[in-house]
Amino acid sequence: MPAEVLEKAQQELVDWRGHGMSLMEMSHRSDEFLSVRAEAEQDLRDLMGISDDYHVLFLQGGASTQFASVPLNLLDDSQCAYYLNSGQWSKKAIAEARRFGRVQVLAETRACAPEASSWSLGDVNDAAYVHYTPNETIDGVEYDYVPQTGDVPLVADFSSSILSHPIDVSRYGLIYAGAQKNIGPAGLCVVIVRKDLLERCSDKVPAMLNYSIHAKNDSLYNTPPTFSIYLAGLVFKWLKEKGGVEAMAKVNADKAARLYAAIDNSDFYTSPVHVAHRSRMNVPFILPSPELDASFLQGAEQAGLMNLAGHRSVGGMRASIYNAVSPASVDALIDFMQQFAHQHGEG
Ligand code: PMP
Repeated sequence: MPAEVLEKAQQELVDWRGHGMSLMEMSHRSDEFLSVRAEAEQDLRDLMGISDDYHVLFLQGGASTQFASVPLNLLDDSQCAYYLNSGQWSKKAIAEARRFGRVQVLAETRACAPEASSWSLGDVNDAAYVHYTPNETIDGVEYDYVPQTGDVPLVADFSSSILSHPIDVSRYGLIYAGAQKNIGPAGLCVVIVRKDLLERCSDKVPAMLNYSIHAKNDSLYNTPPTFSIYLAGLVFKWLKEKGGVEAMAKVNADKAARLYAAIDNSDFYTSPVHVAHRSRMNVPFILPSPELDASFLQGAEQAGLMNLAGHRSVGGMRASIYNAVSPASVDALIDFMQQFAHQHGEG
């Protein structure tokens, strides 16, 4: 979270804008909260250039719930869902979709994204959608292209790269993103869905997972996570003040370039990811021996550099340099990495 956003929330926490109570204490149907929600939606539309052809939904259950909601709403018995498997999160999305219908994997890769020329939908006529994960958070793999799927809707899990660079929303049928990276606190998930796709949502889909029901109710079918939506709205305002997604993309590209250069210019650290598909948000790197991991992490924490352990499923290190991580913090990490390498043998 950007420090400025946390400070603003702190100022408004107990007495929201002179109303004598916290926003958390207000009804989710109050005019105050309705205006917060509407403004958050409009700011997100402005930031991402989302047209009226799309609904913007603020839902609960994290991105993992969308692994089920997508096939439940968009896939029927006569169709097949096609997935690109480029890492740990797409693998989970695939496993969940298989509970609900026919799924086929078009390409499977690790440590890189599938090359655009290595797969195609061919002439299938049963495709409900094609799903991919543009940025694999755990593996640090990012696609350098948007998959071409013709008339078949493209569905993307943008959890770890939404708002970090411009996205041409019109190329997608549905975009979803858990909030806890570039949007706001955990507990909220944003879904951007093309309106015509809602015709597919059957009445059999449970109400809380049903896009059509949430869209008809402006994401107020039940009590939404009001405080998370408010905080997301503050993050959207912060992003606008910073020059929007285009400005953020430049800062992010620069942060990532400096960190990858520090890794590549060293004999000590290695990047496990194919150069063309290195994520600008999640930068995994490996030390010469796993025995050094604990002391690296301890030293980093002492230097105020937190959360650098790689995901428990892959080990190594991973620096997640989301929008709220400043260039100065990335420089502090690079300094620490160079010092550590020097102390442990790099000449
Ligand atoms: N997809 C991606 C790309 C993610 O990074 C994550 C979480 N790190 C998830 C899905 C799962 O999100 P959640 O924990 O909000 O369910």
